Order: sequence, then C-alpha cells, then structure tokens
Amino acid sequence: MKQKDCIIIENLNVFAHHGVYPEETRDGQNFYVNAVLYTDTKKAGYSDELEDSTNYGEVCQEIHRFLTEHTYKLLEAAAEKLAEYLLQTFPLIQELTLEIRKPEAPIPLPFESVSVKIHRGWNRAFIALGSNIGDRQAYIGNALKHLGEDGNIRNIRVSTLIETKAYGGVEQEDFLNGVLECETLYSPERLLLRLQEEEQLAQRKREIHWGPRTLDLDVLFYEDEVWDKAHLTIPHPDMINRDFVLKPMSELAPNFVHPVYRCTMKELLQQYLKSTKV
Ligand code: ADP
Ligand code: MG
Repeated sequence: MKQKDCIIIENLNVFAHHGVYPEETRDGQNFYVNAVLYTDTKKAGYSDELEDSTNYGEVCQEIHRFLTEHTYKLLEAAAEKLAEYLLQTFPLIQELTLEIRKPEAPIPLPFESVSVKIHRGWNRAFIALGSNIGDRQAYIGNALKHLGEDGNIRNIRVSTLIETKAYGGVEQEDFLNGVLECETLYSPERLLLRLQEEEQLAQRKREIHWGPRTLDLDVLFYEDEVWDKAHLTIPHPDMINRDFVLKPMSELAPNFVHPVYRCTMKELLQQYLKSTKV
C-alpha cells in the first residue's frame, strides 16, 4: 500500500465530562486525544505556506472546544461525533484516525488506560437518480438540493439527465434518469437510509416492484467496496444491462473500474451497446 502523508497529534489533554456515571458528568476527568490526520502535505511542503495545509494548532483548539462543549455517555459517541466534526471543519483532511483515552475511568482495578479508536473519512460514492411520476425534474431537483445541503455530503457532480423507457416489464411513463457523484461521511448503510428519507419526502409509495415512482435513489458504488446483504447490494446489481446507468456513469467517471467485473465504465457501456446491436 502507498504510504499516506499525515499530521499527528499525540495525547492532547482535555478535561471534560463524558461518562455513564453521574459523578463522571458532575466532576469531570482527564481525557487524552490522539489523532492522525491524513492529508496530502506536498503542496505545503513545496510552498511552505500554512494556508496550503491544515493548521494543527486550530485542530487542537477545535478538539478541545468540542469535547468541553458536549457531554457524551460513551467514548464511542464522543469519538464518532468529533471525527465527523473535524472532517467537516477541515476540508483538506481526507480521513483520520482518532483515539480518545480515559486513564481515570471508574474501574476498581489497576489499569493504565482505556480508549476508543476509530478511522473515518470522505468516501466517493455514485448514486442513481430516477423518477417517472409527475414533475420528474422537480423531484430529482429537490433531492439534489437537500443532498447538497447535507454536511455529510460534498463535492457533488451530476450527470446529464436522460429520458428512458421504463425497465422491467411494467407498463408505465418514461423515466428521467441520471447519476450523482459525491464524497460522503455516511457509511453505505447510513447513506441508503439517508436516500430513503429523500424518497419518503417525495411521497414515494412502494407498491409494485419496478413500478412507477416519484423518486428512486440507489447506491451504485461506494469506493470499491462490495456488499452483499439482504437490504444492501453494492455495486448495484444488474447495472451492466442498464444503459441509463452506464451512460451517465461513463459521462461522470469513464475510467472508474467496477470492483467485481474489473472493467471501466466506458468498457461496460461499449460492451452493452455491442450486445444490444442487432
Ligand atoms: P428498485 O430500486 O430495485 O427498483 P426499491 O427502490 O423499491 O427498488 O428498493 C428495494 C430495496 O432494495 C430497498 O429496500 C433496499 O433495501 C434494497 N437495496 C439493495 N441494494 C440497494 C442499493 N445498492 N441501493 C438502493 N437500494 C438497495
Ligand atoms: Mg431503489
């Protein structure tokens, strides 16, 4: 694996009030934070200008402020929320490892420290957009607006929206389809839930499988991850037979490699077009 550049903060001391027990939230105790901030340091390395990097002094101040202004029962929650806040606040940090140690935890046994350590970051995802009832443009447009305002989603790019005949054998209106590319802090499962929230907002009713819908938002890709669970399959299955996915994907990311078929989007589209030619 390629070695990644990082900025490291070790044992930043914060006196704060996190804990399950009432005396912990009342009296407070010392916490120590270790952070590895993954960020490309090359630009700052050449320019020697602070604005080209992440100011670790500011990161320390923000960690301190965040942990003293909030109170969590669990270190897990403190770490999760702090990681999210740092990634949203310092855009050059692409991913981070965060450890919160609690050496004064109320454990009546000799021990040095307990801690929770997590790794979080911005992940590239592709989402299929579809609508075939009512004001299709508006349903898709509203979802794009909401996702654009979501702090856990950034760097959105949207393909051209294309008119498509309905797929799957159900007689219905034509679709408007496209693909959205973004970076997200949501895990794949949370991203799916977030997209289902948008479908609900568009008053989507799940009646017929492959039937008409005001809004359909599917996770196509999440980095190069492969998921095969009952409620979530990534990459989205059957996309190699759907030109309304392959065309917008080829427009946005022609060289993106499908992690299962090991072909680029451009290649998959060419194969599809060849196979449908009579
Ligand atoms: P479809 O999109 O296949 O026409 P629905 O939008 O009604 O149908 O989704 C049905 C189910 O598909 C959802 O409840 C969801 O749990 C599941 N699903 C599995 N993988 C994915 C994915 N990658 N993106 C979106 N939904 C998915
Ligand atoms: Mg769907």
